Amino acid sequence: MTGPTSPIWHPFTQHALAPEPPLIARGEGAWLETDKGQRLLDAISSWWVITHGHRHPKIVAAIKAQADRLDQVIFAGYTHQPAEDVARGLIEIAPPGLAHVFFSDSGSTAVEVALKMALGYWRGAAKPRHRIIALEHAYHGDTIGAMAAGARGVFNAAYEPLLFAVERLPFPRGDGADTLAALERLAPEAAALIVEPLLLGAGGMLTYAPDVLARMKEICEKHGTLLIADEVLTGFGRTGTLLACRQAGISPDILCLAKGLTGGALPLAATLATEEIFAAHYSPDRRRTFFHSSSFTANPIACAAARANLDIWKSEPVAQRIVDLSAAQAERLDSFRDDRRFSGLRRIGTVTALDLNVPDPGYLAGAGLELGRLFFEQGVLLRPLGNTIYVMPPYCVIPSELDLVYDAIRAAAEKFL
Ligand SMILES: *Cc1c(COP(=O)(O)O)cnc(C)c1O
Repeated sequence: MTGPTSPIWHPFTQHALAPEPPLIARGEGAWLETDKGQRLLDAISSWWVITHGHRHPKIVAAIKAQADRLDQVIFAGYTHQPAEDVARGLIEIAPPGLAHVFFSDSGSTAVEVALKMALGYWRGAAKPRHRIIALEHAYHGDTIGAMAAGARGVFNAAYEPLLFAVERLPFPRGDGADTLAALERLAPEAAALIVEPLLLGAGGMLTYAPDVLARMKEICEKHGTLLIADEVLTGFGRTGTLLACRQAGISPDILCLAKGLTGGALPLAATLATEEIFAAHYSPDRRRTFFHSSSFTANPIACAAARANLDIWKSEPVAQRIVDLSAAQAERLDSFRDDRRFSGLRRIGTVTALDLNVPDPGYLAGAGLELGRLFFEQGVLLRPLGNTIYVMPPYCVIPSELDLVYDAIRAAAEKFL
């Protein structure tokens, strides 16, 4: 086997097995186009980030205008208007109680910031706590702290010696009784519970009920345990509401946002925290400063894109688009109900998932890669998680385009099984 012709080392890619990646030259709406002119329907929103569609005109215009004004500035001791506007806009859309916004540049970092805020909060307490509770099958990112909170497996086995111990709750099934009982037992000693509200993405597009999330919040509150909502994926409409927390009627103590924050155009993340958490770091004593930064914290161009995104949510019928897309998705998923080649049909908001009944469904068995190739040949970008095929399109996708996606899923099953 010859080596790759490009020096690029791609993410989550086994270069000894992967074919040469297609070169994507353009994107517009729900579509991508290769340098050879092949059109590709982006059915996973370019790894879950694109919300309204590629190159939304208002976001593109905001980026261009900001690039002409200010590209980057240190954010310690200085501020700028796009960041001020985004911070106020986020407080406006966030559940009540979240009062402060810390900017960073990826979902993983937003989670690291959340964990550090939680520990910082407890450090000043009479009885400090440092244990973190997380869900089975969780995914919170690929930096060391975020990996520690996430599920253990083949993805992080090599780094296991560096990962801190986390208390693990069983994934909530049905009324979540086992999960809640475990939380009730662990919460009194824990600094924080971190969860992906309602939808566990990388863990296999697994969903659980809003009632369970509401009960988790109750238990945390009773024991003074902080609740960190990782809405990096679920934020900005994926689950049917702007934030998934809303469906449970809860306010977390810390909220992580990234992916859809700029509509998916540029990297930007935010970690929102309550007054109490901010207050625990507010002191004439410099040692209590929140010691975190990255060079591009609150980059002005990324913030301008985020400001445009927040404006789109206000000025365009995004909520209605999401309702319509959710219904269209439900209808198409339903057409697989009697198809014995698939199982585990599930949907939340705009996201559907189903499992192809292959003999070896493990991630390492490579069914996902092979399926991805079959989808590509049919002009659809899908990237199954093992044998789990999921559809997470941008909100501009139209019903006939969705049909292409589900036709491709049927055709791939035909070829694969
Ligand atoms: C993608 C994701 C992250 C990590 O975000 P990056 O921007 O890729 O670092 C964290 N949490 C959840 C729930 C995610 O889906």
